[in-house]
Amino acid sequence: MKELRIIDGHCDTLTNLLDRSSTINDSVNHVSLENLIKGRVYIQFFAAWIGSRQKYGSPLQRGLKLIDRYYNMLEGNSRLVPILQWEDVNKIGNDQIGALLTIEDGNILEGELANLRILYKLGVRLMTLTWNHRNEICDGIMETNSQSGLSNFGISVIQEMNKLNMIIDISHISVPAFWDVIEYSKAPIIASHSNAKAVCPHPRNLDDKQILAISEVNGLIGINFYPLFLSEKNCGIEDIVKHIEYIAGLVGVDVVGFGSDFDGVDHLPDGINGPQDFPKIINRLLQLNYLEDDIKKICSGNYLRIIKTILK
Ligand SMILES: [Zn+2]
Repeated sequence: MKELRIIDGHCDTLTNLLDRSSTINDSVNHVSLENLIKGRVYIQFFAAWIGSRQKYGSPLQRGLKLIDRYYNMLEGNSRLVPILQWEDVNKIGNDQIGALLTIEDGNILEGELANLRILYKLGVRLMTLTWNHRNEICDGIMETNSQSGLSNFGISVIQEMNKLNMIIDISHISVPAFWDVIEYSKAPIIASHSNAKAVCPHPRNLDDKQILAISEVNGLIGINFYPLFLSEKNCGIEDIVKHIEYIAGLVGVDVVGFGSDFDGVDHLPDGINGPQDFPKIINRLLQLNYLEDDIKKICSGNYLRIIKTILK
């Protein structure tokens, strides 16, 4: 138990750092330095969630402001270690936390591949192709009228992400676009913050065929803690465990990780207030007699495999 540390593939804390002028030292956010340390978090993925042009203006400009906040957070914070490539993981000390910069919504590219290459140079190592709606790459899951797959531009984005060694994230994507990504990506893909539709039938969740396809490409699914994606009723830690158990039962533990969505959701399951409560989930898995090696994979091993394979 002691050596188990967590990798969390998705949080929206950067939005709060920018829009509420808060810092990673403040306790107003789910994700604070103190809570990350209490929860034994090893690497936290920080998403720059772009949002709509109508609300936030130019997607690229909005993204750059969020990236600026990310670097602002890292500066003067020796406890945070930026992860740009696999070797950086070895630099994370016992009292330190790795930070990995991601983009949520490929609308940030504004239809230009050059922007993808520049974002990589700015340290972005994962991009969620779309949010709920349509962008230049593909449709999101809530674009219910068309549900289109990848555009020609979208295909070139996949190829360029493969070439750059960036992690492709399909959370939020439409079902036809999901299958296009499976067809075109030469590298494993992940769903950084998605759950199982068989357990909770929300459109944001993944059906069994999608879970099987992610497993076949050695990908990963980060379990999302948003109650609406966990259960149709009030929910708690048990519901997080249900999604872990379902996916592990269908395709094995090698596909399961965490993608909390902390600071991106308005409420959380009972008993979960932030990263500080990760140990409660681990304890529950231990009680259920999961092998410690399997729990290690869920906590960090599977994400480490993805980081090692893609961020080489
Ligand atoms: Zn999201």
